[in-house]
Amino acid sequence: MPYKVLIIDDSENMRASLKKVVEGMKDVDEVLLADNGLQGYKVLRESSIDLVLCDLNMPGIDGFKFLNLKASNAEFSDIPVIMLTGQGDVSSKVRGLEVGASDYLIKPCDDAELIARVRVHLKLKELQDQLRMKNAELEELTRTDPLTGVANRRYFVETLSGEYHRSQRYQRPLSFIMLDIDHFKRVNDTYGHQAGDQTLIVVAKTLKRDLRMQDFIARYGGEEFALLLPETKSTDAAVAAERCRKNIEAALVVYKNFRFSITVSMGLASLPNDRVGDVEGLVKLADEALYTAKKTGRNRLVLA
Ligand code: GH3
Ligand code: MG
Ligand code: MG
Repeated sequence: MPYKVLIIDDSENMRASLKKVVEGMKDVDEVLLADNGLQGYKVLRESSIDLVLCDLNMPGIDGFKFLNLKASNAEFSDIPVIMLTGQGDVSSKVRGLEVGASDYLIKPCDDAELIARVRVHLKLKELQDQLRMKNAELEELTRTDPLTGVANRRYFVETLSGEYHRSQRYQRPLSFIMLDIDHFKRVNDTYGHQAGDQTLIVVAKTLKRDLRMQDFIARYGGEEFALLLPETKSTDAAVAAERCRKNIEAALVVYKNFRFSITVSMGLASLPNDRVGDVEGLVKLADEALYTAKKTGRNRLVLA
C-alpha cells in the first residue's frame, strides 16, 4: 500500500535528511514537508496523510500544540505521530505520549531505527484501517435485508423513531407508507417460492428507482415494505406512492420460464397529524389504511 508521510521540523537540514531516509522506504510514495506545527496541520487537512514525523521544539506552533490541533479533529485520530525530541528530554517524551503521540525518536536518529519505527506505525495504521472497514461492512450487514438489499425491519424501526421525533420537534412533514404485495401466497403456490423471492427483488428494485435518495425503503415483513419519506407532506407522498404502485403493476417478473405481474396495496399516514401521539400511532394509522386498501379491492393506495 502506498503511504504518504508528513515531516514537520523547523530545521531545513533535518527535514531534508529525514525526507531522504523515509523516501527511500518501500511503500512510501510521497513525503510532504512543513516547517512549523500550523503549516503541518494545514497539510494534514489537505492531504490524506498516513503518518507524521514531528519535531518537538519549533518556534510558534510547536510539536505539543500540533498534537493538540490534531486531537481537536476526530478525523485525524488514527494518524500516528512520531515525535522527534532532544537527548534525555524524558518529561517531554512522556508529555508527548500523553497528548497523543504514538512514539518518539531521539535526534539525531539512526536511519535504521527511524525506518523500523515508521514501518511499525504504518503497519499498525493499516491494520486499524482494515478493522474499521470490516466493522463498517458488518454494520451494513446488520442493517440490510439480504434478499432485496433494502433496510431490514430493525434498522427501519431505528430510523422511523429518529425521523418521527425530528418531525415533531421541528414541525416538519413526514410521510409513512406501508406496502403489501397482493395475493402473494398465490405467487408462491403457482410459480414456487423462488419465483416469490424474485418478485420481492423486483418490487424492491422498482421502489429504489421510483423514490428519492433521501427516502427510506425497508422490508418490514415477509412481503411487506415500509417507506419513509422525510420532508414530504401527505399529498406529495400520495403522488410518489401512486407512481410506485403503477410501476410495480407494470413491471414484469421473470423467473425461469414464468413471466407474470403483481400488484401492491398501500396505506399512507403523514405528520403533522392530530390523531398521532407516538411512533406506534403513526404505524397503526398506515396499517389501518392498508387494511382498508385490501378490503376495498387491492392494487390501490388509501390515505389514513
Ligand atoms: P393479501 O393480498 O391479502 O396480502 O394476500 P397475500 O397472499 O399476499 O397475504 P398472506 O399474508 O396470506 O400471505 C403472505 C405470503 O407471503 C405467505 C408467505 O408464504 C409469503 N412469504 C413471506 N415471506 C416470504 C419470502 O421471503 N419469500 C417468499 N417467496 N414468500 C414469502
Ligand atoms: Mg402480508
Ligand atoms: Mg400480501
